[in-house]
Amino acid sequence: MEKKSYELGDIVRMKKPHPCGANEWLIVRTGMDFRLKCQGCGHYVLLPRTKFERMARQLLGHVELSREPLPYEAAGEASAEKD
Ligand SMILES: [Zn+2]
Repeated sequence: MEKKSYELGDIVRMKKPHPCGANEWLIVRTGMDFRLKCQGCGHYVLLPRTKFERMARQLLGHVELSREPLPYEAAGEASAEKD
């Protein structure tokens, strides 16, 4: 039994496309919650990990993300995970 794991920078296809019509999502945050960026319109969504794993259909690719904090990370919970 293989447990599929997804990581930062993965691009996945979900069960349902975004209302904008695109169905490619970039994982920009992992953990208890996964934050995904729609590759069609740039909209961000936050899903609990369990829900994400149910929704994910296919791994489409992977991109290297830069480590500079995104605005929402800098403003939010990033301070809790300090190196
Ligand atoms: Zn979209």
